Amino acid sequence: MDANLELLIRLQEADDEINRIESLVHSIPEELSQHGAALAAAKDKLAQFHKSVEDAKKERLMKEKDVETKNAGIAKAKLKLNEVKTNQEYNAALAEIDNMKKSVSDLETDQLEIMERLDSAKSEEGKLKELIQKEEAEFAKLKAEKDAYMEKIRAEAGVFRAKRDEITQKLDPVMLGYYDRIMKARDNKAVTGLKNGFCLACFQSVLPQLALEVRLGSAVHNCPHCQRFLYHVHDDAESASHKKAG
Ligand SMILES: [Zn+2]
Repeated sequence: MDANLELLIRLQEADDEINRIESLVHSIPEELSQHGAALAAAKDKLAQFHKSVEDAKKERLMKEKDVETKNAGIAKAKLKLNEVKTNQEYNAALAEIDNMKKSVSDLETDQLEIMERLDSAKSEEGKLKELIQKEEAEFAKLKAEKDAYMEKIRAEAGVFRAKRDEITQKLDPVMLGYYDRIMKARDNKAVTGLKNGFCLACFQSVLPQLALEVRLGSAVHNCPHCQRFLYHVHDDAESASHKKAG
């Protein structure tokens, strides 16, 4: 096979690997940020939860103050009871005291309810904190794994880049320039197979004469439609006879 064609095939193989690794490297921060979002959501939930607990505490304090005010009112009303002159005034004062006592009892019931809510909130808060700890640990583990993986595949990419340098030093510079241009224009594929007379990249057929020359492999040829470099791939008939022979 033509030496340049062989180098072009190897160059495409090295570039395929480099591109594969680069797209992996790019996908990693995205994966991590998805996990980071789950953690942030859990923390957000905890913050909202803290706010509702604070609100409940404030409500409880307000009710406490209300109870104090009402109790003071009851004490005052009881003193007044000794000073009233008529039955009517006496009954009115008693009714006022009863009303205030009922309010105090209602307020105390409310307070109890709030305290119960705060108690169950405490256990729920514990669960949320546990969840966040778990998520944090998972995220840290995942990040460590991804970091190690990233380091590993970057080292692999380095090996392929060294191979690429080695190949490009040997390759005819004009062909290298042409290769680079096709790579840019044709979706990172500059070298492709020709099988049964069809280009395996653009799927168009070439003239039998060109197919024959590609098969001989003694010179570099390009697809007349997509301009990619062509190398011969065994035809179906050839593969079948190879299988029979093998
Ligand atoms: Zn083509």
